[in-house]
Amino acid sequence: MALADFPRHPLLFGPSPIHPLPRLSEALGGDVEIWAKREDCNSGIAFGGNKVRKLEYLVADVLATGCDTLVSIGGIQSNHTRQVTGVARHLGLGCVTVQEGWVDWDDDIYDTVGNIQLTRIMGGDVRIDPAGFDIGVRDSWKEAIASVEEAGGTPYAIPAGASDHPLGGLGFANWAVELAQQEAELEVFFDHVVVCSVTGSSHAGMIAGFALEDRDDRRVVGIDASATLGATLDQVSRIARSTADAIEVGRDLRDDEITVVAGYEGPAYGIPDEGTIEAIHLCARTEGMLTDPVYEGKSMAGLIGMVRSGEIPAGSRVMYCHLGGQPALPAYARVPGLG
Ligand code: PLP
Repeated sequence: MALADFPRHPLLFGPSPIHPLPRLSEALGGDVEIWAKREDCNSGIAFGGNKVRKLEYLVADVLATGCDTLVSIGGIQSNHTRQVTGVARHLGLGCVTVQEGWVDWDDDIYDTVGNIQLTRIMGGDVRIDPAGFDIGVRDSWKEAIASVEEAGGTPYAIPAGASDHPLGGLGFANWAVELAQQEAELEVFFDHVVVCSVTGSSHAGMIAGFALEDRDDRRVVGIDASATLGATLDQVSRIARSTADAIEVGRDLRDDEITVVAGYEGPAYGIPDEGTIEAIHLCARTEGMLTDPVYEGKSMAGLIGMVRSGEIPAGSRVMYCHLGGQPALPAYARVPGLG
């Protein structure tokens, strides 16, 4: 089926804004032109973010199937569960979120402020579970789904990051089409797109979406923030290929279209290193654009590192896809440089 024929329930303000980052470009030598496309301010629902965009397609399915409770899973400071809860509230639905101990973070504010605070304010049914980081399917999530059924509800199961789901890649396939339209309007072309990758469907969806244009002069660079590179690369590859099939790209994706770059993930998922903090500072202090220590600080560190090393060569025009995540910042207020 063509991408435009998939049912989509609008949750965003419209196309997310794009704009240049001239002072960041200059700080990196001025030979690479850097822009941003802002999923961090794409919607009025719970501060928006990449999951609200993905959920436009899943919600159409929720409404068609008559489910009454969204059930999902993430870490304690999950942006995803905040957005799922916000979308559920926006639609008048119930919401259960399992929140696991994905990050080994010993700070008593961590499970109080930031995303989890916002989720609780929205009246989410938050179920804390001590299990560690894993983007796969968890028993705790299955138990939460069963508990909704036992209580007489009709659950709609949304996996971590809304990724490993038949419709998970569509939101960012649509992002790619949207960017191509914005390029046509502004008469510019981005030869590099840089995006953070963890559960994989933001990155995978855009690979599939760009494959529809069938041109070979655009490079999509995923920056790993999972610190479990193999699992993320497998998931990105699988979702990119299944999404490409679903939207009838009409050819097999090549391996060289699927690039997940390691080296910027820090010591573990959710833990920043010096490069993450430097990237957060540089971007905030040149452009007033805020990024977080779990995801976008790492993908921004990747962009900065690849410009400095020449892997993104002089003369390139780069679109940095900002996927959101700033609500986690208060949970990291005791990290030197972030408080
Ligand atoms: N950036 C932010 C702010 C996120 O919340 C996530 C979620 O995991 C990502 C990046 C990674 O996106 P994905 O899970 O689609 O790979």
